[in-house]
Amino acid sequence: MHLSELPYNDYGSAMRCRLGGRVQKLAIDAHLGCPHRDIKSGSGGCTFCLGEAFTPSYCTNQPSITEQINAAISFHDSRRRRADIHLAYFQAGTNTNAPIERLKELYTEALNHPKIEGIIIGTRPDCISSEILDYLEDLSHNHYIAIEYGIESCSDETLRHVNRGHDFATAQRAIAETKARSIDVGAHFILGLPNETKAQIINQVALINELQPNFVKFHQLQIYRNTVMAREWQAHPERFPFANNFDTDDYVELMVDIIRHLDPSIAIERFASQAPRHLILSSPLGGIRMDALRTKIVERLKTLQATQGDRL
Ligand code: SF4
Repeated sequence: MHLSELPYNDYGSAMRCRLGGRVQKLAIDAHLGCPHRDIKSGSGGCTFCLGEAFTPSYCTNQPSITEQINAAISFHDSRRRRADIHLAYFQAGTNTNAPIERLKELYTEALNHPKIEGIIIGTRPDCISSEILDYLEDLSHNHYIAIEYGIESCSDETLRHVNRGHDFATAQRAIAETKARSIDVGAHFILGLPNETKAQIINQVALINELQPNFVKFHQLQIYRNTVMAREWQAHPERFPFANNFDTDDYVELMVDIIRHLDPSIAIERFASQAPRHLILSSPLGGIRMDALRTKIVERLKTLQATQGDRL
């Protein structure tokens, strides 16, 4: 399938236009933890959280950022994933959860690597400050800089239910302040959180359009073993119609609907995620490969002669 034929705004193509070559993100772990699941904070963390699910194997036991970048490049080279541009992706945990001087050391170490042209920083919308944003704005004059915010849902009721620890207004503020500094913004959402119906999910797309992130990631709800959510799922399965009743075809239909309501200026980076199977209790997608899922979504869009945003 040629990328120019895709009926949606594909992140890979958008980044190729933006940066002038094929981009490879290298996931690294800065070991900054998360203020929301920190024992000292006592806030308990999101009910769905299982930190190890987000750490690629090449990140483990790699103490420095430089070594992790080298290991990640070797990992992708060994799989013949050719890239023109490498971006360090601070993925695991909350990557603004440290004093500014420590953050400067970490980000600078990544940007000083000869093969790194930019950084993408994953964080929570309530763990960002003007001081950090001002610093990143300075960096953005010479490097590609993006912040990827975990928003998860636009519904305050849902955010409370999963003990997210912030409301949707916090995400709106963080994104507005980031965009005001011309720093790229990514937004991450989970589809199928407790009590959310398909209609409610589709209604949230209008709020995503208002946020105007540069790119979005959608993940299906995966219920991880030994989490608070796993216990809730076992005690109250009726709260999880999505995890219990959706199959791959249902998910494709939901994603097609989301794409048709999504502003075409917003690039889509992910339709779903793949955590290691031994960690997962329940996921509507079972074991489908992500490229197979993408093919199904594209084929369905083409069958319907639909494109991103055609239902706006
Ligand atoms: S913000 Fe992320 S790392 Fe922190 S508790 Fe929630 S899911 Fe876990």
